[in-house]
Amino acid sequence: MTTFWKPRQSAVPFLLIVALLCAGQAPLPEPVTDQETELGQAVYNQLRDKGEIIESSPLYDSLRPIADAISRVAQPRYNHPFKFFLVHETHPNAFATPGGNVYVVDSLLYFVKNAEQLAGTLCHEVSHTIHRDAMDRLKEQQRIERRELGIALLLGPSLAQMLAIQMIGDLHSLAYSRDVESRADVTGSDICAASGYNPWGLVWLFEEFQNADPNQIPQLLSDHPANGVRVQTLEQHFRENPSVFSKFDSRPESATPLIVPKDATERFLRP
Ligand SMILES: [Zn+2]
Repeated sequence: MTTFWKPRQSAVPFLLIVALLCAGQAPLPEPVTDQETELGQAVYNQLRDKGEIIESSPLYDSLRPIADAISRVAQPRYNHPFKFFLVHETHPNAFATPGGNVYVVDSLLYFVKNAEQLAGTLCHEVSHTIHRDAMDRLKEQQRIERRELGIALLLGPSLAQMLAIQMIGDLHSLAYSRDVESRADVTGSDICAASGYNPWGLVWLFEEFQNADPNQIPQLLSDHPANGVRVQTLEQHFRENPSVFSKFDSRPESATPLIVPKDATERFLRP
């Protein structure tokens, strides 16, 4: 995919050495370096340094088929490769960063009741990336900071790192407006439908949470008063596009069970 990848000039000598050391193997291409990739990489580094990223686990076998199906549909709409990582955190959650990385907290796999609910969550997160919601919010924050500090901030590596720390904090709280969330729900439902996953999964997840313990609710869905509005927006979108959505069964009884190994082992990526 030449659109997405090209070797950086500075990387050429290194790649040559690698090519010489590994005769017969093509050197790995370097991703295009831009602001989104750099921010995404900085968040990845932070999570890796905290020992949160799961390098290998049987849990990936449950996640991968769903993530792959969603990637196939979503990838043409975003110019960096989508990659899904399992992470270990206290609350079930999922979050996406600029650059295409999507993080899924391990306990979310045990928390959801079926494959459609997990797919809905992932489609929602991927849609935030396609809409560049995190970038928009960061730019807005930068505008505010510039005004407050009265200086022009240049995006160097240290600032990228600073923003990454900020971003990790932000992504763990519900900082998007209801409109931004609804827009991600709607695009997410289109992606789920095109991936073959029943887009009612996200609605089922919302409905289930009306009675759930607030501490156990994934943060992307924890904005209780707004959930009713988000369900209404989704249902309206389904009604207005019957050619896409009418073939899907709205009853949770029609859901596909998600097979998740009990007490799965996890090996963590270490810096
Ligand atoms: Zn969201």
